[in-house]
Amino acid sequence: PQILRLILGDQLNASHSWLAEKDNSILYVMMEIGQETSYVRHHRQKVLVFFAAMRNFAKALTSKGHQVSYLTLDDKNNQQSLTKNLSRYLKQYPNARLQCQLPDEYRVDHQLRSWAGEQELTIEWFDSEHFLTQRDSLEQLFDSDSKLLMETFYRHMRRHLGVLMDGDSPIGGQWNFDSKNRKKLPKKLAVSEPLIFKNDAEDIDIMLTEMKVDTIGNADPRQLSWPTSRHQARQLLSYFCEYLLPYFGTYQDAMTSPEHHQHYWSLFHSRLSFALNSKMLAPLEVVDQAVASWQRNPDSIELNQIEGFVRQIIGWREYIRGIYWRFMPEYKNQNQLHHQRSLPAFYWNAKTNMNCVRQSVQQSLDYAYAHHIQRLMVTGNFALLAGVDPDQVDDWYLGIYIDALEWVELPNTRGMSQYADGGLLATKPYVSSANYIQKMSHYCSNCHYRHDQKTGDKACPFNSLYWHFIDRNQQQFKTNHRMGMMYSVWHKKSQQEREQLLEQANYYLDHLDDL
Ligand code: FAD
Ligand code: SF4
Repeated sequence: PQILRLILGDQLNASHSWLAEKDNSILYVMMEIGQETSYVRHHRQKVLVFFAAMRNFAKALTSKGHQVSYLTLDDKNNQQSLTKNLSRYLKQYPNARLQCQLPDEYRVDHQLRSWAGEQELTIEWFDSEHFLTQRDSLEQLFDSDSKLLMETFYRHMRRHLGVLMDGDSPIGGQWNFDSKNRKKLPKKLAVSEPLIFKNDAEDIDIMLTEMKVDTIGNADPRQLSWPTSRHQARQLLSYFCEYLLPYFGTYQDAMTSPEHHQHYWSLFHSRLSFALNSKMLAPLEVVDQAVASWQRNPDSIELNQIEGFVRQIIGWREYIRGIYWRFMPEYKNQNQLHHQRSLPAFYWNAKTNMNCVRQSVQQSLDYAYAHHIQRLMVTGNFALLAGVDPDQVDDWYLGIYIDALEWVELPNTRGMSQYADGGLLATKPYVSSANYIQKMSHYCSNCHYRHDQKTGDKACPFNSLYWHFIDRNQQQFKTNHRMGMMYSVWHKKSQQEREQLLEQANYYLDHLDDL
């Protein structure tokens, strides 16, 4: 070959211009590497699905006549490092040029660039042709001293792409329909079943065991439920548009448990994040198909459902990526609230009496999936209230979820959920007492703790920990007008009540693992 083209595991974009024509002078290189299975302990389903999807992608390329070299994890020539393997290819083909698509993760980008620098090698870079924005889009859009508001970014994207627009105005006259969204799930509402694939990844599973890949979570490798090909990814998208989109916005934030709903873990969420993050699906095709469904079925899909969904894809997802590239690598070390505690063991085994946390962790271990509000307002909220070291929180989120890649995990976890960036991404910390969880879920009715008690044996830990958080961060938040009301509530409490709450919280903080 005259050209070696690297395709990373999250660059499974079949529409990439690289692939438009076959060319025998080009060799596509794909590799399963120990470096990627071990930079954090991943959920077993995540490793299985990435390798299964990569293998299918390589097969699809070969069947279209492209030349592909695919290194399996157990290949005896595999050096288990991206750059060591590349060096070997370049040794084998000394006259070949190396072409790469821009990686999404800083870690991989940095690795490739420093290696190329050391070798005095020129990498020819290409866009991954997936995102709707560039890495530096936030810099272009916002002045250096303006606040990087997601809402400003989102409106810009709506206008720029002409999605749900009527000329220069948003369709329906509003940019968002939050007041209609975020309802509690009625216990009697029928929840559609999730579309589950039954992919056989047993050979990969055996290889992972032989190669001693250390993973977390549960998996049935003979029935891997996540999409492992573009065809399946498209099926998942169509299924979402037909059966789930009609309720998406309304119940976007709702949480329930197995006793109440059989499909408690998926509800009306799309479960498209893996298909998107691996690039099997493009964000614009997802949005276009969802908008087309809404246009065809305005009676069953109301505007608030489609707007809620569009906001996630062209708003949050692109914005988060912009934040990542704007602030890496410093972002990864931020710890504005100086949190140092260890992540309690129940994040790994779900053994806790707090029903909301137990259910959210258990379904994460079972399905490698939890929806946004479980991540933000249950597990994230608890870690923030308890003052857990954001490094440990990051490692947990980066390992456990099927869709976890650092560019999207890090700003969501460290920024939005843990406020470790000092409010760059969230205008106020996402903390709540049991009140919010009781309002949005069915967890509290079956809990060992009482959501309406603040002190005493059965008091819900979220309650006193919430006030402890408010109290200990007074300096940080006293000028934040969005927190003003909470501080005035806190100061209106009698000294005795405040002391009791803090005492209760301190007891819980000293016994986190026993909660
Ligand atoms: P849906 O609810 O159906 O939403 C549709 C799509 O919108 C998602 O597939 C996703 O692509 C996009 N989206 C929605 N919210 C966000 C967001 N905040 N940031 C970026 N994209 C968003 N998402 C990841 O893809 N990878 C992660 O590692 C990840 N880590 C997270 C960690 C924390 C602490 C939190 C609070 C959120 C995290 N998210 C992450 C965002 C969000 O929770 C997931 O994208 C979503 O739950 C995936 O499920 P879904 O496909 O069913 O999403
Ligand atoms: Fe969670 Fe507290 Fe409700 Fe129990 S009572 S489910 S710990 S919020």
